[in-house]
Amino acid sequence: MKSILVLTHADETGSTLTRASLEAVTSGMELAARLSIPLAIGIVAADSSAASTALASAGARLLTVSGEAFAQPRYSSDAAAVEALCRAAEATIVLAPSSSRFARVAAGVAHRLGGFIDTHITALGGTETVEATRWFYRQRVEAVLSREARPWFLLLDAGTNMAFAGYASTPKVEEIAVELPAQRTTVSGVRAPSQGTQTIRPDARMLLVAGAGWTKKQPDGEIHAAEAGELILGFLGATSASLGSSKSLVDQGGDGQPVLPFLSHLNQVGQTGSTPRHAKGLSTCCHGEEPHVVGWRFIGERRAISLDPNCGWTHGKADVVYVADAFQVMAKVNALLGESKGS
Ligand SMILES: Cc1cc2nc3c(=O)[nH]c(=O)nc-3n(C[C@H](O)[C@H](O)[C@H](O)COP(=O)(O)OP(=O)(O)OC[C@H]3O[C@@H](n4cnc5c(N)ncnc54)[C@H](O)[C@@H]3O)c2cc1C
Repeated sequence: MKSILVLTHADETGSTLTRASLEAVTSGMELAARLSIPLAIGIVAADSSAASTALASAGARLLTVSGEAFAQPRYSSDAAAVEALCRAAEATIVLAPSSSRFARVAAGVAHRLGGFIDTHITALGGTETVEATRWFYRQRVEAVLSREARPWFLLLDAGTNMAFAGYASTPKVEEIAVELPAQRTTVSGVRAPSQGTQTIRPDARMLLVAGAGWTKKQPDGEIHAAEAGELILGFLGATSASLGSSKSLVDQGGDGQPVLPFLSHLNQVGQTGSTPRHAKGLSTCCHGEEPHVVGWRFIGERRAISLDPNCGWTHGKADVVYVADAFQVMAKVNALLGESKGS
């Protein structure tokens, strides 16, 4: 029988589903309705009761794998859980969020089931069969894939769909038993940067990009790296925006030039960096060259502040360009943000 299975998992609380999981549920519901194929949702969580209640109104068969062994991500237990869910659902199409937890095990499980996997899916189409869209060559080429192989696993990129928000009701749940292999890995805890020092915020509405101009000689002949750092962090503190950077700026540390200590290569946006998804983006002191701007593919509204009226942003790469001194503009913006917070 043809069936679609959406895999979901809980966040670090062990019981609440991740946003990306809820986005996958929306994709699954739309696809199942379009193809008129039964839908099942699989839940992996330490305690799946809250998640099942939240998904009861999705109108899907609910399968859960729960217990302490599934509180923490771990290859052996997660792969066993996902395999058991796929077998129980007799799934031909398996949709899963591209979280680190599922991205790690999905290819292995597809292999165990004799299936096939595609990753970084951004949209699902088709009325007769499944057509999956993804980007290639650093988001420059968009392709639509279809395959005969089943089960076909599709890992969905986060931020590409609405999160499912149903009403809570009493769920009918099938608890799936999992035969766990011997566990070699014990998760003893999680070490992560504290919220205050974390500048990469995938869920933020806005992206602020810092370019190399922040640490270059300014019209007064001086470098103002400390002031640059204060302005950028002041803006992030007031807006909770995510911080991106150009390659030139994050590379500077290695060249012995002035650096902004809160930036690392993880902040880099572009061809050899990331392609984040945010509703708005503001580029500052960045030239807007193609290898950088290609990372802006999924930024809704683009604005830039550059001293150079001939920079890449003014060549059609931004919606609005302020040809101005970013030190002055950001100082004014931060002051206005401070005033509006105070009032
Ligand atoms: C194979 C390859 C891959 C690459 N991958 C990436 C990538 O992933 N990401 C990436 O970013 N780059 C990448 N690059 C590098 C890219 O081509 C550019 O060199 C880089 O993006 C330039 O960074 P920038 O604009 O910050 O610096 P610059 O080119 O130095 O530009 C600084 C800008 O700041 C402006 N400025 C200075 N002071 C002020 C001020 N006070 N107010 C306003 N504006 C000011 C200047 O006018 C200038 O326009 C790649 C290059 C190659 C060859």
